[in-house]
Amino acid sequence: MIKAIVIGSGFGGLALAIRLQSAGIDTLILEKRDKPGGRAYVYEDQGFTFDAGPTVITDPTALEEVFALSGNRLEDYVRMLPVNPFYRLCWEDGYRFNYVNDQDELDRQIGLKSPSDVAGYGKFLAYSKAVLQEGYIKLGHVPFPDFRSMIRVAPQLIKLESYRSVYGIVSRFIKDPHLRQAFSFHSLLVGGNPFETSSIYALIHALERQWGVFFPEGGTGALIRGMLKLFGELGGEIRLNVEVDEIVVEQGRVAAVRLKSGEQIACLLTASNADVVHTYDRLMRNDSVAKRKAVSLKKMRFSMSLFVIYFGLKGVRNDLEHHTVLFGPRYRELLKDIFHGDELAEDFSLYLHAPTVTDPSLAPPGHSAYYVLAPVPHLGHADIDWNTEGPRYRDRILAYLEQHYIPDLKRDLVTSRIFTPYDFREELNAHVGSAFSLEPVLWQSAYFRTHNKDQQIKGLYFVGAGTHPGAGIPGVVGSAKATARIIVDEHLVQRVS
Ligand SMILES: Cc1cc2nc3c(=O)[nH]c(=O)nc-3n(C[C@H](O)[C@H](O)[C@H](O)COP(=O)(O)OP(=O)(O)OC[C@H]3O[C@@H](n4cnc5c(N)ncnc54)[C@H](O)[C@@H]3O)c2cc1C
Repeated sequence: MIKAIVIGSGFGGLALAIRLQSAGIDTLILEKRDKPGGRAYVYEDQGFTFDAGPTVITDPTALEEVFALSGNRLEDYVRMLPVNPFYRLCWEDGYRFNYVNDQDELDRQIGLKSPSDVAGYGKFLAYSKAVLQEGYIKLGHVPFPDFRSMIRVAPQLIKLESYRSVYGIVSRFIKDPHLRQAFSFHSLLVGGNPFETSSIYALIHALERQWGVFFPEGGTGALIRGMLKLFGELGGEIRLNVEVDEIVVEQGRVAAVRLKSGEQIACLLTASNADVVHTYDRLMRNDSVAKRKAVSLKKMRFSMSLFVIYFGLKGVRNDLEHHTVLFGPRYRELLKDIFHGDELAEDFSLYLHAPTVTDPSLAPPGHSAYYVLAPVPHLGHADIDWNTEGPRYRDRILAYLEQHYIPDLKRDLVTSRIFTPYDFREELNAHVGSAFSLEPVLWQSAYFRTHNKDQQIKGLYFVGAGTHPGAGIPGVVGSAKATARIIVDEHLVQRVS
Protein backbone atom coordinates (compact mmCIF):
# COMPACT_ATOMS: atom_id res chain seq x y z
CA MET A 1 0.00 0.00 0.00
CA ILE A 2 1.16 3.53 -0.80
CA LYS A 3 1.91 5.15 2.53
CA ALA A 4 1.45 8.82 1.76
CA ILE A 5 -0.54 10.61 -0.92
CA VAL A 6 0.07 14.30 -1.55
CA ILE A 7 -2.81 15.94 -3.42
CA GLY A 8 -1.37 18.66 -5.64
CA SER A 9 2.13 19.47 -6.88
CA GLY A 10 2.56 23.14 -5.92
CA PHE A 11 5.82 24.18 -4.26
CA GLY A 12 4.41 23.10 -0.90
CA GLY A 13 3.23 19.70 -2.15
CA LEU A 14 6.53 18.99 -3.89
CA ALA A 15 8.64 20.07 -0.90
CA LEU A 16 6.56 17.88 1.42
CA ALA A 17 6.71 14.88 -0.93
CA ILE A 18 10.52 15.19 -1.14
CA ARG A 19 10.79 15.43 2.63
CA LEU A 20 8.60 12.35 3.15
CA GLN A 21 10.38 10.35 0.49
CA SER A 22 13.75 11.39 1.95
CA ALA A 23 12.55 10.05 5.31
CA GLY A 24 11.69 6.70 3.74
CA ILE A 25 7.92 7.18 3.46
CA ASP A 26 6.69 5.98 0.04
CA THR A 27 4.89 8.96 -1.44
CA LEU A 28 2.62 9.43 -4.43
CA ILE A 29 1.69 12.88 -5.76
CA LEU A 30 -1.64 13.22 -7.55
CA GLU A 31 -1.94 16.34 -9.71
CA LYS A 32 -5.04 17.49 -11.52
CA ARG A 33 -3.27 19.46 -14.24
CA ASP A 34 -1.07 18.21 -17.09
CA LYS A 35 2.07 19.77 -15.61
CA PRO A 36 3.40 20.08 -12.05
CA GLY A 37 3.89 23.32 -10.13
CA GLY A 38 0.37 24.53 -9.29
CA ARG A 39 0.56 28.32 -9.34
CA ALA A 40 4.09 27.82 -10.71
CA TYR A 41 2.72 26.26 -13.91
CA VAL A 42 4.48 27.02 -17.23
CA TYR A 43 2.91 28.08 -20.55
CA GLU A 44 4.77 27.64 -23.80
CA ASP A 45 3.49 29.73 -26.72
CA GLN A 46 5.27 30.23 -30.06
CA GLY A 47 8.74 29.74 -28.62
CA PHE A 48 8.08 31.89 -25.52
CA THR A 49 8.23 30.37 -22.03
CA PHE A 50 5.93 32.01 -19.50
CA ASP A 51 6.15 31.18 -15.82
CA ALA A 52 2.55 31.47 -14.70
CA GLY A 53 3.09 32.57 -11.10
CA PRO A 54 6.04 32.99 -8.73
CA THR A 55 9.03 34.81 -10.18
CA VAL A 56 10.63 36.49 -7.17
CA ILE A 57 12.53 33.65 -5.50
CA THR A 58 13.65 34.59 -1.99
CA ASP A 59 15.36 32.60 0.76
CA PRO A 60 17.03 29.97 -1.44
CA THR A 61 18.35 28.35 1.76
CA ALA A 62 14.85 26.96 2.41
CA LEU A 63 14.99 25.19 -0.97
CA GLU A 64 18.60 24.10 -0.48
CA GLU A 65 17.57 22.39 2.74
CA VAL A 66 14.96 20.31 0.88
CA PHE A 67 17.68 19.00 -1.43
CA ALA A 68 20.25 18.55 1.34
CA LEU A 69 17.99 16.12 3.25
CA SER A 70 19.03 13.39 0.85
CA GLY A 71 22.62 14.60 0.50
CA ASN A 72 21.90 16.48 -2.75
CA ARG A 73 22.60 20.05 -3.79
CA LEU A 74 20.10 22.46 -5.32
CA GLU A 75 22.82 23.85 -7.59
CA ASP A 76 23.24 20.44 -9.25
CA TYR A 77 19.60 20.63 -10.38
CA VAL A 78 19.07 24.29 -11.22
CA ARG A 79 21.19 27.42 -11.33
CA MET A 80 19.84 30.29 -9.29
CA LEU A 81 20.68 33.65 -10.88
CA PRO A 82 20.82 36.75 -8.67
CA VAL A 83 18.51 39.58 -9.73
CA ASN A 84 19.62 43.20 -9.35
CA PRO A 85 17.90 45.53 -8.72
CA PHE A 86 15.41 43.39 -6.80
CA TYR A 87 12.67 45.62 -8.25
CA ARG A 88 12.33 48.93 -9.97
CA LEU A 89 9.44 50.90 -8.52
CA CYS A 90 7.71 53.42 -10.80
CA TRP A 91 5.04 56.02 -10.17
CA GLU A 92 2.93 57.90 -12.69
CA ASP A 93 4.47 61.22 -11.60
CA GLY A 94 7.79 59.98 -12.95
CA TYR A 95 9.47 59.12 -9.64
CA ARG A 96 11.62 55.96 -9.82
CA PHE A 97 13.19 53.97 -7.00
CA ASN A 98 15.67 51.17 -7.64
CA TYR A 99 15.15 48.69 -4.85
CA VAL A 100 18.62 47.19 -4.45
CA ASN A 101 20.56 45.24 -1.83
CA ASP A 102 23.21 47.88 -1.33
CA GLN A 103 22.93 49.96 1.83
CA ASP A 104 24.83 52.97 0.47
CA GLU A 105 22.79 53.06 -2.72
CA LEU A 106 19.53 52.71 -0.77
CA ASP A 107 20.57 55.51 1.58
CA ARG A 108 21.57 57.66 -1.38
CA GLN A 109 18.19 57.27 -3.09
CA ILE A 110 16.23 57.72 0.14
CA GLY A 111 18.32 60.79 1.00
CA LEU A 112 17.64 62.39 -2.37
CA LYS A 113 13.92 61.92 -1.91
CA SER A 114 13.57 62.65 1.77
CA PRO A 115 16.75 63.26 3.82
CA SER A 116 15.12 62.67 7.20
CA ASP A 117 13.96 59.21 6.10
CA VAL A 118 17.51 57.83 5.86
CA ALA A 119 17.63 57.37 9.63
CA GLY A 120 13.99 56.21 9.65
CA TYR A 121 14.78 53.55 7.08
CA GLY A 122 17.61 52.28 9.28
CA LYS A 123 15.13 51.87 12.14
CA PHE A 124 12.63 50.16 9.87
CA LEU A 125 15.30 47.70 8.69
CA ALA A 126 16.19 46.92 12.31
CA TYR A 127 12.50 46.26 13.05
CA SER A 128 12.15 44.12 9.94
CA LYS A 129 15.21 42.05 10.95
CA ALA A 130 13.76 41.48 14.42
CA VAL A 131 10.47 40.16 12.99
CA LEU A 132 12.36 38.04 10.47
CA GLN A 133 14.16 36.38 13.36
CA GLU A 134 11.01 35.76 15.43
CA GLY A 135 8.35 35.27 12.78
CA TYR A 136 10.27 33.41 10.08
CA ILE A 137 13.57 31.96 11.28
CA LYS A 138 12.11 30.74 14.60
CA LEU A 139 8.46 30.08 13.75
CA GLY A 140 8.08 29.90 9.96
CA HIS A 141 8.39 26.11 9.89
CA VAL A 142 6.98 25.16 13.29
CA PRO A 143 3.42 23.83 13.54
CA PHE A 144 0.86 25.50 15.82
CA PRO A 145 -1.20 22.45 16.80
CA ASP A 146 -2.94 23.87 19.88
CA PHE A 147 -3.80 27.13 21.57
CA ARG A 148 -0.97 26.69 24.08
CA SER A 149 1.53 26.93 21.23
CA MET A 150 0.00 30.29 20.32
CA ILE A 151 0.00 31.54 23.91
CA ARG A 152 3.70 30.73 24.15
CA VAL A 153 4.58 33.15 21.33
CA ALA A 154 2.02 35.83 22.25
CA PRO A 155 4.37 37.99 24.41
CA GLN A 156 6.88 38.20 21.58
CA LEU A 157 4.14 39.07 19.07
CA ILE A 158 2.91 41.85 21.33
CA LYS A 159 6.45 43.14 21.84
CA LEU A 160 6.86 43.35 18.06
CA GLU A 161 3.55 45.24 17.84
CA SER A 162 2.09 42.64 15.50
CA TYR A 163 -1.34 44.22 16.07
CA ARG A 164 -0.22 47.11 13.85
CA SER A 165 -0.47 46.96 10.06
CA VAL A 166 2.53 46.78 7.72
CA TYR A 167 1.75 50.29 6.46
CA GLY A 168 1.29 51.51 10.05
CA ILE A 169 4.73 50.32 11.10
CA VAL A 170 6.43 51.61 7.94
CA SER A 171 4.77 55.01 8.46
CA ARG A 172 6.09 55.15 12.01
CA PHE A 173 9.65 55.18 10.64
CA ILE A 174 9.30 56.69 7.15
CA LYS A 175 7.48 59.90 6.27
CA ASP A 176 7.68 60.29 2.49
CA PRO A 177 4.51 58.97 0.75
CA HIS A 178 6.38 57.28 -2.13
CA LEU A 179 8.85 55.63 0.22
CA ARG A 180 6.02 54.46 2.46
CA GLN A 181 4.62 52.63 -0.55
CA ALA A 182 8.07 51.33 -1.54
CA PHE A 183 8.55 49.64 1.84
CA SER A 184 5.00 48.44 2.46
CA PHE A 185 3.77 46.87 -0.79
CA HIS A 186 5.52 43.55 -0.04
CA SER A 187 2.63 42.02 1.87
CA LEU A 188 0.73 41.99 -1.45
CA LEU A 189 3.22 39.35 -2.59
CA VAL A 190 1.63 36.97 -0.09
CA GLY A 191 -1.95 38.19 -0.57
CA GLY A 192 -2.15 40.77 2.21
CA ASN A 193 -3.37 44.36 2.14
CA PRO A 194 -0.52 46.45 3.66
CA PHE A 195 -3.16 48.47 5.54
CA GLU A 196 -4.66 45.40 7.24
CA THR A 197 -1.95 42.74 7.30
CA SER A 198 -0.06 42.30 10.53
CA SER A 199 3.24 44.18 10.74
CA ILE A 200 4.88 40.76 11.14
CA TYR A 201 4.82 40.61 7.34
CA ALA A 202 7.21 43.55 7.26
CA LEU A 203 9.76 40.75 7.66
CA ILE A 204 9.70 40.23 3.88
CA HIS A 205 11.93 43.26 3.48
CA ALA A 206 14.67 41.85 5.75
CA LEU A 207 14.23 38.42 4.17
CA GLU A 208 15.02 39.87 0.76
CA ARG A 209 17.93 41.87 2.11
CA GLN A 210 19.36 38.87 3.97
CA TRP A 211 19.38 36.27 1.18
CA GLY A 212 18.73 38.28 -1.99
CA VAL A 213 16.28 37.83 -4.86
CA PHE A 214 16.89 35.08 -7.40
CA PHE A 215 15.53 33.73 -10.64
CA PRO A 216 16.18 30.14 -11.75
CA GLU A 217 17.94 29.74 -15.08
CA GLY A 218 15.25 28.46 -17.42
CA GLY A 219 12.53 30.10 -15.31
CA THR A 220 10.68 29.08 -12.16
CA GLY A 221 9.50 26.01 -14.10
CA ALA A 222 13.12 24.80 -14.10
CA LEU A 223 13.09 24.85 -10.31
CA ILE A 224 9.87 22.81 -10.27
CA ARG A 225 11.41 20.35 -12.73
CA GLY A 226 14.52 20.11 -10.52
CA MET A 227 12.40 19.31 -7.46
CA LEU A 228 10.43 16.72 -9.40
CA LYS A 229 13.63 15.12 -10.71
CA LEU A 230 14.95 14.79 -7.17
CA PHE A 231 11.62 13.34 -6.00
CA GLY A 232 11.79 10.72 -8.79
CA GLU A 233 15.42 9.84 -7.97
CA LEU A 234 14.36 9.25 -4.37
CA GLY A 235 11.79 6.72 -5.59
CA GLY A 236 8.72 8.97 -5.43
CA GLU A 237 5.94 8.81 -8.01
CA ILE A 238 3.76 11.53 -9.53
CA ARG A 239 0.64 11.08 -11.62
CA LEU A 240 -0.49 14.06 -13.70
CA ASN A 241 -3.95 14.64 -15.19
CA VAL A 242 -5.61 12.93 -12.23
CA GLU A 243 -8.08 14.93 -10.21
CA VAL A 244 -8.86 13.70 -6.73
CA ASP A 245 -12.61 13.56 -6.23
CA GLU A 246 -12.81 12.33 -2.65
CA ILE A 247 -10.70 11.64 0.40
CA VAL A 248 -12.30 8.51 1.82
CA VAL A 249 -12.61 8.52 5.61
CA GLU A 250 -13.49 5.32 7.45
CA GLN A 251 -14.07 5.28 11.22
CA GLY A 252 -12.53 8.69 11.66
CA ARG A 253 -9.35 8.00 9.70
CA VAL A 254 -8.26 8.54 6.11
CA ALA A 255 -8.39 5.20 4.29
CA ALA A 256 -8.04 6.05 0.61
CA VAL A 257 -8.26 8.65 -2.09
CA ARG A 258 -10.77 8.31 -4.94
CA LEU A 259 -10.04 9.87 -8.32
CA LYS A 260 -12.55 11.44 -10.74
CA SER A 261 -12.09 8.33 -12.90
CA GLY A 262 -13.48 6.22 -10.04
CA GLU A 263 -10.13 4.61 -9.26
CA GLN A 264 -9.53 4.27 -5.53
CA ILE A 265 -6.01 4.29 -4.04
CA ALA A 266 -5.62 3.07 -0.46
CA CYS A 267 -3.17 5.00 1.74
CA LEU A 268 -2.00 5.41 5.28
CA LEU A 269 -2.23 9.19 5.17
CA THR A 270 -2.96 12.02 2.80
CA ALA A 271 -1.66 15.57 2.78
CA SER A 272 -3.67 18.05 0.78
CA ASN A 273 -1.80 20.75 -1.10
CA ALA A 274 -5.09 21.70 -2.74
CA ASP A 275 -7.14 24.67 -1.55
CA VAL A 276 -8.27 24.21 2.06
CA VAL A 277 -11.96 24.95 1.36
CA HIS A 278 -11.92 22.66 -1.70
CA THR A 279 -10.44 19.91 0.49
CA TYR A 280 -12.92 20.08 3.36
CA ASP A 281 -15.98 21.11 1.37
CA ARG A 282 -15.61 19.14 -1.85
CA LEU A 283 -13.15 16.31 -1.30
CA MET A 284 -14.61 15.42 2.10
CA ARG A 285 -18.25 16.18 1.33
CA ASN A 286 -19.40 12.89 2.90
CA ASP A 287 -17.75 13.50 6.25
CA SER A 288 -19.73 15.47 8.83
CA VAL A 289 -16.64 16.71 10.74
CA ALA A 290 -15.13 18.04 7.51
CA LYS A 291 -18.41 19.67 6.48
CA ARG A 292 -18.44 21.65 9.73
CA LYS A 293 -14.85 22.74 9.13
CA ALA A 294 -15.79 23.88 5.63
CA VAL A 295 -18.63 26.01 6.98
CA SER A 296 -16.33 27.85 9.41
CA LEU A 297 -13.53 28.16 6.83
CA LYS A 298 -15.86 29.83 4.35
CA LYS A 299 -16.56 32.54 6.94
CA MET A 300 -12.87 33.49 7.01
CA ARG A 301 -11.30 36.18 4.85
CA PHE A 302 -9.61 35.24 1.61
CA SER A 303 -6.84 37.11 -0.17
CA MET A 304 -7.45 39.03 -3.35
CA SER A 305 -7.41 37.45 -6.77
CA LEU A 306 -5.14 38.39 -9.68
CA PHE A 307 -5.61 39.13 -13.35
CA VAL A 308 -2.53 38.09 -15.34
CA ILE A 309 -1.57 38.74 -18.98
CA TYR A 310 1.32 36.70 -20.41
CA PHE A 311 2.69 38.28 -23.56
CA GLY A 312 5.59 38.03 -25.96
CA LEU A 313 7.05 40.88 -28.00
CA LYS A 314 9.17 41.25 -31.06
CA GLY A 315 12.36 43.07 -30.07
CA VAL A 316 14.15 43.50 -26.75
CA ARG A 317 13.41 46.42 -24.40
CA ASN A 318 16.69 47.31 -22.75
CA ASP A 319 15.15 50.02 -20.56
CA LEU A 320 13.15 47.53 -18.46
CA GLU A 321 14.32 45.70 -15.34
CA HIS A 322 13.43 42.09 -14.52
CA HIS A 323 10.86 43.07 -11.86
CA THR A 324 8.96 46.36 -12.00
CA VAL A 325 6.17 47.55 -9.75
CA LEU A 326 4.02 50.19 -11.42
CA PHE A 327 2.11 52.18 -8.83
CA GLY A 328 -1.12 53.76 -10.03
CA PRO A 329 -2.52 57.12 -8.90
CA ARG A 330 -4.17 55.73 -5.74
CA TYR A 331 -2.72 53.41 -3.06
CA ARG A 332 -4.83 53.09 0.09
CA GLU A 333 -8.11 53.66 -1.77
CA LEU A 334 -7.26 51.24 -4.57
CA LEU A 335 -6.32 48.56 -2.03
CA LYS A 336 -9.66 49.14 -0.31
CA ASP A 337 -11.44 48.60 -3.63
CA ILE A 338 -9.44 45.42 -4.27
CA PHE A 339 -9.90 43.90 -0.82
CA HIS A 340 -13.44 45.07 -0.05
CA GLY A 341 -15.05 46.46 -3.20
CA ASP A 342 -17.74 44.85 -5.32
CA GLU A 343 -16.48 46.03 -8.70
CA LEU A 344 -13.35 46.58 -10.72
CA ALA A 345 -11.68 49.95 -10.10
CA GLU A 346 -10.98 52.25 -13.04
CA ASP A 347 -7.27 52.53 -12.11
CA PHE A 348 -4.78 49.81 -11.31
CA SER A 349 -1.34 49.13 -9.85
CA LEU A 350 0.65 46.50 -11.72
CA TYR A 351 3.60 44.17 -11.40
CA LEU A 352 5.53 43.68 -14.65
CA HIS A 353 7.71 40.61 -15.07
CA ALA A 354 10.38 40.73 -17.78
CA PRO A 355 12.30 37.44 -17.33
CA THR A 356 14.29 37.71 -20.56
CA VAL A 357 16.25 40.55 -18.90
CA THR A 358 17.90 37.79 -16.81
CA ASP A 359 17.49 34.78 -19.10
CA PRO A 360 17.05 35.55 -22.83
CA SER A 361 16.46 31.85 -23.58
CA LEU A 362 12.84 32.28 -22.45
CA ALA A 363 11.97 33.93 -25.78
CA PRO A 364 12.99 33.27 -29.38
CA PRO A 365 16.09 35.21 -30.52
CA GLY A 366 15.35 38.91 -30.90
CA HIS A 367 12.17 38.64 -28.81
CA SER A 368 11.25 39.23 -25.17
CA ALA A 369 8.77 37.59 -22.75
CA TYR A 370 6.61 39.31 -20.11
CA TYR A 371 3.74 38.99 -17.77
CA VAL A 372 1.84 41.76 -16.11
CA LEU A 373 -0.50 41.25 -13.20
CA ALA A 374 -3.12 43.38 -11.50
CA PRO A 375 -4.50 42.53 -8.05
CA VAL A 376 -8.31 42.37 -8.39
CA PRO A 377 -11.17 41.56 -5.99
CA HIS A 378 -11.94 37.90 -5.43
CA LEU A 379 -15.23 36.41 -6.57
CA GLY A 380 -16.69 36.32 -3.06
CA HIS A 381 -17.31 40.06 -2.96
CA ALA A 382 -17.09 41.17 -6.61
CA ASP A 383 -19.35 39.28 -8.96
CA ILE A 384 -17.50 40.32 -12.12
CA ASP A 385 -18.22 38.44 -15.35
CA TRP A 386 -14.60 37.75 -16.29
CA ASN A 387 -15.59 36.13 -19.60
CA THR A 388 -16.68 39.57 -20.80
CA GLU A 389 -14.49 41.75 -18.61
CA GLY A 390 -11.25 39.75 -19.13
CA PRO A 391 -10.53 40.75 -22.76
CA ARG A 392 -11.59 44.36 -22.02
CA TYR A 393 -9.36 44.55 -18.95
CA ARG A 394 -6.46 43.04 -20.95
CA ASP A 395 -6.83 45.75 -23.60
CA ARG A 396 -6.95 48.49 -20.96
CA ILE A 397 -3.82 47.23 -19.21
CA LEU A 398 -1.85 46.75 -22.43
CA ALA A 399 -2.85 50.26 -23.59
CA TYR A 400 -1.68 51.64 -20.22
CA LEU A 401 1.65 49.81 -20.51
CA GLU A 402 2.09 51.11 -24.03
CA GLN A 403 1.33 54.68 -22.98
CA HIS A 404 3.59 54.74 -19.91
CA TYR A 405 6.27 52.05 -20.15
CA ILE A 406 6.44 49.95 -23.35
CA PRO A 407 6.05 52.09 -26.50
CA ASP A 408 4.80 50.20 -29.59
CA LEU A 409 3.67 47.28 -27.46
CA LYS A 410 0.68 46.54 -29.71
CA ARG A 411 2.74 46.78 -32.87
CA ASP A 412 5.28 44.26 -31.54
CA LEU A 413 2.83 41.89 -29.84
CA VAL A 414 3.42 38.30 -30.98
CA THR A 415 1.34 36.33 -28.49
CA SER A 416 -0.77 36.88 -25.37
CA ARG A 417 -2.98 34.92 -23.00
CA ILE A 418 -4.85 35.83 -19.84
CA PHE A 419 -5.54 34.15 -16.48
CA THR A 420 -8.56 35.49 -14.57
CA PRO A 421 -10.15 34.86 -11.16
CA TYR A 422 -12.36 32.32 -12.94
CA ASP A 423 -9.20 30.36 -13.84
CA PHE A 424 -8.00 30.44 -10.24
CA ARG A 425 -11.36 28.98 -9.27
CA GLU A 426 -11.70 26.41 -12.04
CA GLU A 427 -8.12 25.43 -12.90
CA LEU A 428 -6.75 25.52 -9.36
CA ASN A 429 -9.95 24.85 -7.38
CA ALA A 430 -9.26 28.05 -5.43
CA HIS A 431 -12.13 29.16 -3.20
CA VAL A 432 -13.62 32.43 -4.54
CA GLY A 433 -10.75 32.51 -7.04
CA SER A 434 -8.33 33.71 -4.36
CA ALA A 435 -4.73 33.83 -5.57
CA PHE A 436 -3.11 33.29 -2.14
CA SER A 437 -5.75 31.40 -0.08
CA LEU A 438 -6.58 32.71 3.43
CA GLU A 439 -5.76 36.39 3.85
CA PRO A 440 -2.67 36.86 6.06
CA VAL A 441 -4.26 38.91 8.82
CA LEU A 442 -3.24 38.33 12.44
CA TRP A 443 -6.40 36.49 13.44
CA GLN A 444 -5.90 34.06 10.53
CA SER A 445 -2.23 33.39 11.18
CA ALA A 446 -0.30 30.66 13.02
CA TYR A 447 -2.71 28.69 15.27
CA PHE A 448 -5.68 30.48 13.67
CA ARG A 449 -4.80 29.22 10.17
CA THR A 450 -5.73 25.74 8.92
CA HIS A 451 -3.58 23.39 10.97
CA ASN A 452 -0.90 21.35 9.28
CA LYS A 453 -2.61 18.31 10.79
CA ASP A 454 -6.35 17.91 11.21
CA GLN A 455 -7.15 17.54 14.89
CA GLN A 456 -10.08 15.15 14.45
CA ILE A 457 -9.62 13.15 11.26
CA LYS A 458 -6.65 10.84 11.63
CA GLY A 459 -4.22 10.67 8.73
CA LEU A 460 -5.27 14.03 7.25
CA TYR A 461 -2.63 16.73 6.82
CA PHE A 462 -2.31 20.03 4.95
CA VAL A 463 0.52 21.78 3.19
CA GLY A 464 0.63 25.00 1.16
CA ALA A 465 -0.64 28.54 1.20
CA GLY A 466 -3.79 27.92 3.29
CA THR A 467 -1.88 26.51 6.22
CA HIS A 468 0.83 27.88 8.54
CA PRO A 469 2.84 29.99 7.80
CA GLY A 470 1.10 30.97 4.54
CA ALA A 471 1.57 31.90 0.89
CA GLY A 472 4.73 32.64 -1.06
CA ILE A 473 7.47 30.13 -1.81
CA PRO A 474 9.31 30.53 1.52
CA GLY A 475 5.93 30.21 3.26
CA VAL A 476 4.74 27.03 1.56
CA VAL A 477 8.20 25.43 1.73
CA GLY A 478 8.14 26.25 5.47
CA SER A 479 4.70 24.67 5.75
CA ALA A 480 6.09 21.51 4.14
CA LYS A 481 8.75 21.37 6.86
CA ALA A 482 6.16 21.82 9.60
CA THR A 483 3.85 19.15 8.14
CA ALA A 484 6.68 16.71 7.41
CA ARG A 485 7.90 17.03 10.96
CA ILE A 486 4.50 15.97 12.32
CA ILE A 487 4.11 13.10 9.85
CA VAL A 488 7.62 11.76 10.29
CA ASP A 489 7.35 11.94 14.10
CA GLU A 490 4.02 10.11 14.11
CA HIS A 491 4.56 7.52 11.43
CA LEU A 492 8.19 6.61 11.82
CA VAL A 493 7.73 6.30 15.58
CA GLN A 494 4.75 4.00 14.94
CA ARG A 495 6.82 1.88 12.58
CA VAL A 496 9.67 1.28 14.96
CA SER A 497 7.58 0.80 18.11
C1 LIG B 1 0.57 35.17 -10.35
C2 LIG B 1 1.25 34.84 -9.04
C3 LIG B 1 2.51 35.36 -8.77
C4 LIG B 1 3.18 35.02 -7.60
N1 LIG B 1 4.43 35.51 -7.39
C5 LIG B 1 5.15 35.06 -6.34
C6 LIG B 1 6.53 35.39 -6.22
O1 LIG B 1 7.08 36.10 -7.08
N2 LIG B 1 7.23 34.88 -5.17
C7 LIG B 1 6.64 34.06 -4.25
O2 LIG B 1 7.34 33.60 -3.32
N3 LIG B 1 5.32 33.73 -4.32
C8 LIG B 1 4.58 34.20 -5.36
N4 LIG B 1 3.27 33.83 -5.49
C9 LIG B 1 2.67 32.99 -4.46
C10 LIG B 1 3.09 31.53 -4.63
O3 LIG B 1 3.13 31.22 -5.99
C11 LIG B 1 2.10 30.59 -3.97
O4 LIG B 1 1.80 31.00 -2.64
C12 LIG B 1 2.63 29.16 -3.93
O5 LIG B 1 3.24 28.80 -5.15
C13 LIG B 1 1.47 28.23 -3.62
O6 LIG B 1 1.97 26.93 -3.47
P1 LIG B 1 1.08 25.79 -2.83
O7 LIG B 1 2.03 24.77 -2.28
O8 LIG B 1 0.09 26.36 -1.88
O9 LIG B 1 0.34 25.08 -4.05
P2 LIG B 1 -0.41 25.59 -5.35
O10 LIG B 1 0.55 26.23 -6.25
O11 LIG B 1 -1.64 26.30 -4.99
O12 LIG B 1 -0.78 24.18 -6.00
C14 LIG B 1 -1.86 23.40 -5.58
C15 LIG B 1 -2.00 22.27 -6.58
O13 LIG B 1 -3.10 21.42 -6.21
C16 LIG B 1 -3.71 20.96 -7.40
N5 LIG B 1 -5.06 20.51 -7.09
C17 LIG B 1 -6.11 21.26 -6.64
N6 LIG B 1 -7.18 20.48 -6.46
C18 LIG B 1 -6.81 19.21 -6.80
C19 LIG B 1 -7.49 17.96 -6.82
N7 LIG B 1 -8.78 17.85 -6.44
N8 LIG B 1 -6.81 16.86 -7.26
C20 LIG B 1 -5.51 16.95 -7.64
N9 LIG B 1 -4.82 18.12 -7.63
C21 LIG B 1 -5.47 19.23 -7.21
C22 LIG B 1 -3.70 22.18 -8.30
O14 LIG B 1 -3.87 21.83 -9.66
C23 LIG B 1 -2.30 22.73 -8.01
O15 LIG B 1 -1.34 22.17 -8.88
C24 LIG B 1 2.56 34.16 -6.65
C25 LIG B 1 1.28 33.66 -6.90
C26 LIG B 1 0.63 33.98 -8.09
C27 LIG B 1 -0.73 33.40 -8.35
